[in-house]
Amino acid sequence: MIIIDIKSTILRLPEVYPIGDGTQDALIVQVITDEGLIGIGEAHTSPSVIKAVIEAPISHYMARGLKEVLVGRDPRDINLLWDDMYKLTSVFGRRGVVIHAISAIDIALWDLLGKIANQPIYRLLGGAYRKTITAYASILALDTIEDCVKKALDLKDRGYKAVKFGWNKIGSDIERDIEIIREVREAVGTEMALMIDVGVPLPFHKALKLARGLEKYNVSFLEEPLSPDDWDGYARLAASTTIPIAAGEKETTRYGFMELIQQGKIGIIQPDLARAGGFTECLRIAQLAEVHGVTVVPHCWSTDILVAATLHFIASLRECPYIEFCVIDNPIRNNVITKPIIPKEGMVHVCEAPGLGIELNEEILLELNCT
Ligand code: MG
Repeated sequence: MIIIDIKSTILRLPEVYPIGDGTQDALIVQVITDEGLIGIGEAHTSPSVIKAVIEAPISHYMARGLKEVLVGRDPRDINLLWDDMYKLTSVFGRRGVVIHAISAIDIALWDLLGKIANQPIYRLLGGAYRKTITAYASILALDTIEDCVKKALDLKDRGYKAVKFGWNKIGSDIERDIEIIREVREAVGTEMALMIDVGVPLPFHKALKLARGLEKYNVSFLEEPLSPDDWDGYARLAASTTIPIAAGEKETTRYGFMELIQQGKIGIIQPDLARAGGFTECLRIAQLAEVHGVTVVPHCWSTDILVAATLHFIASLRECPYIEFCVIDNPIRNNVITKPIIPKEGMVHVCEAPGLGIELNEEILLELNCT
């Protein structure tokens, strides 16, 4: 079996706004083989840039488009292909968008391998420690504290056992952020897990003020309060608060995560399968985390392709408390696969069909295609 083509499809909503919501567009990759089997993957990043990384013609021995690296190769040689994609883009790659593109292809290669073996991916990863995973409802913070409280109660009514508010105005007024959590905690009671995601870096003193102000409300983690490159700041913050600090959604490769873990000294890392290097690299990252006693809670805010992939990944990890479950509603978030993944009582089940266990919804792909 050989790869004969890599197809990149860009989906885009009619209007895209400058908000912290990456479900407004998507880049879907299909790895096509000579035997008619197709693997599906996605990159959670800027779709047009990824399409260029995949389709670029060769310009140097180590500056090639990924399609050129892959066509003619056996898709089952995943480690070999990963190494070649990394090596043969090393002039312009090694981090950032090239790793995002490799992530999409790696997810598709694992989907293919599962289809060839007629097994779900979690089985190929060595089996499932768990098949049902607690979904934390992940949502952009609403404009008012009252609306945040209402939303948290609504999510609790829908069965969610955990909720995270992020971005929007979070970080612009620390007292207000603390007040959101105080009022939400009071409304939902002690059982529901709460998290908060700043996303846009704060000065260190404000991040510390926020962390300390949240300590009495039993917050499960404070996410990305500092620059993704401020490892020293993360180390100081993590040492100065009882709130677990989470980061890593913008990080890529085991090398990036090694720095974040060893220098940043945070308690939770958040590799995104569609950014950090796909299954192949995220398994290595998870091993690094385990060795250092760090918890992995993957970042997951895109289509159900990423949700399905993340479920297989989490199923294969010895420890992982949650899957991030984006509760934004739009056709890219909700309708890209034929059987959308919907939590029941706040829990999601890993897909059991071969590969990722999903099928693309061709109608939506056609409707939103702006490749
Ligand atoms: Mg985040």
